Amino acid sequence: MKIQNYINGKFHDPIDNNWLDNYNPSNGQVYGHIPNSSSVDVENAYIAAKSAFPSWSQTTLDERSRILIKISELLESNLQHFAETESKDNGKPISLAKSVDIPRAANNFRFFGNAITQFASESHESIGHDAINYTLRQPMGVVGCISPWNLPLYLFTWKIAPAIAAGNCVVAKPSEITPMTAFLLGNICNEAGLPKGVLNIVHGLGSTTGQAIVEHPNIKAISFTGGTKTGIHIAKIAAPLFKKLSLELGGKNPNIIFSDCDYDEMLKTTVLASFSNQGQICLCGSRIFVEASIYKKFKIDFIEKVKQLKVGHPSNETTDVGALVSKQHLEKVLSYIEIAKKENGIVLCGGNKIVIKDYENGYYLAPTVIEINTNDCKINQEEVFGPVVTMMPFNTETEVLQMANAVKYGLSATIWTTNLKRTMRLTNQLQAGIIWVNTWMLRDLRTPFGGMKASGVGREGGFEALRFFTEAKNICIKY
Ligand code: NDP
Repeated sequence: MKIQNYINGKFHDPIDNNWLDNYNPSNGQVYGHIPNSSSVDVENAYIAAKSAFPSWSQTTLDERSRILIKISELLESNLQHFAETESKDNGKPISLAKSVDIPRAANNFRFFGNAITQFASESHESIGHDAINYTLRQPMGVVGCISPWNLPLYLFTWKIAPAIAAGNCVVAKPSEITPMTAFLLGNICNEAGLPKGVLNIVHGLGSTTGQAIVEHPNIKAISFTGGTKTGIHIAKIAAPLFKKLSLELGGKNPNIIFSDCDYDEMLKTTVLASFSNQGQICLCGSRIFVEASIYKKFKIDFIEKVKQLKVGHPSNETTDVGALVSKQHLEKVLSYIEIAKKENGIVLCGGNKIVIKDYENGYYLAPTVIEINTNDCKINQEEVFGPVVTMMPFNTETEVLQMANAVKYGLSATIWTTNLKRTMRLTNQLQAGIIWVNTWMLRDLRTPFGGMKASGVGREGGFEALRFFTEAKNICIKY
C-alpha cells in the first residue's frame, strides 16, 4: 500500500517520486510505502496553507468549533479502523489503540473545538491615565507541527487541533515510522468540511522533510514532540529565525513509593506506568524508588505481576505488551540492558527478545526489571524508552528527592504516599512539569503539559496551547 501527502485538501505523490518502506513491527515485514518528501513538497504545503490563512483566520469561532467537533465525531465513528491501523503501524496492542490512542485523538479535536469558544484575552484599565489596554491574541499564520512515533495520532492531533482552532494553517509531519493514521486523517478532515489548505500533511524523514519545515523562513512557529537531541538541533535552527518554539522532549521519570501507600493500587498502577505501550510513553515511570521497609515485599509482588503480562501479537485482544516500534529501536533497548549488566545491574525478569510463533521476525521484548544500587548509572540517567524499568531502595525522603532530581530530565514524577505533609514537601521540590500523587497518567486536557530541564521548553494543553499558537498584541487607547 502507498500513502500520499495531503496538500490543499488533495492527495499527492511526492514530487521527486521518492518512497520509503514502512515496516510492520509485529512481523518485521515491509507492508507499505510512504512519500520521502523533499523541500519542494514542503513548499507546496506551505503555499496551500498560506492561501488558506486569510479566510480561515476570519472564520467565526462557532464555525471553527463546529468543524473540529465534526472531525472528532468522525474519528469516533471510525474508531475500529483507526485503532487497527495504529496497532499495525506501531506494534501497540489493539486494546490500547482502541481505549487510549484513538479516543484521545478524537478528544483533542473536541476539547480544542470547545476551548476556542471560551478563549479570552485580557484588558487593563490604566487608572489615572485615562487609558485602557487590551490584548489581542491573533493567529500566527502558517505553523509547523512535528510529532513522534510512540502515540502517533494522539500526539499529532494534540498539536494540530489547537493550532487550527486558534485560526492558523498548518504544515505537519508525523514520524515516518508511523505515518498511517495521519494519512487517514486527511479524508476525515475533508468529510468534516475543513477548508482545503488549513491542514497539510507531508510525510518523510525528519532530517529532510522535518528539517525543511523547521528551516522554512515563513513558518512562524514549530510545535515539536520528540527526542531531546532532535529538540536541541531544531532549537539551533529556529532561534536565529526568531520562531516561536514549543519542545516536548524526553523523560526519565521517577516513581517514588513510600511504605504508607495504598499498596494494591500502587502495585497495579506501577505495572501500567512501567510497561504501557511497551514502555514507549514519555511519561512512563522508568526509575522505581521503593522505601527500604517494603522493598523486599514489593520486589516479589512486582516481579510476579510483570511475569503475568502477556507479550503477543498487537492484534490479539488479550495482548498486554505488543511489539516495539522498529528493529533499530529494539536493538537500542537491548543495548541498554547490556550496559546495565556491565554496571552491576541485576536483571530480575525479562532482558531477552521473545519469539512469537508465526511472527518470528517481529520486534518483541520481554518486560524487563533491573535492580540497581546507584542512581548514577547510565541506565538510570539516559532515556531507554522501552519496556525496561530499574528499581532500588531508599531510606529517607531527602535521599529519594535528591536521586529523583539528579537527572538531566524533568518531565513527570509519581509519588505513592498517604502522608499529606510529605506530599506537599515533595511536590514543591520535585523538578518535573507534571507530578502524579497516588495515580499515573490521569490527564485533564485543561492543564499545562510539558517538562523542565532537558524535557522541553514551553507548555501545551488547555489555554496554554492556544496562547502558544497565537501572537499577543497589546493595544493602548487614551480616551
Ligand atoms: P525523534 O526526535 O527522533 O523524532 C520526532 C519527530 O521529529 C519525528 O517526526 C522525526 O521524523 C522528526 N525529526 C527528526 N529529525 C528532525 C529534524 N532535523 N528536523 C525536524 N524534524 C525532525 O523522536 P522519536 O520519534 O524517536 O520519539 C521518541 C522521543 O519522543 C522520546 O525521546 C520521547 O521521550 C519523546 N516524547 C516526548 C513526549 C513529551 O510530551 N515530552 C511525548 C512523547 C514522546 P522521523 O521519525 O521521520 O525521522
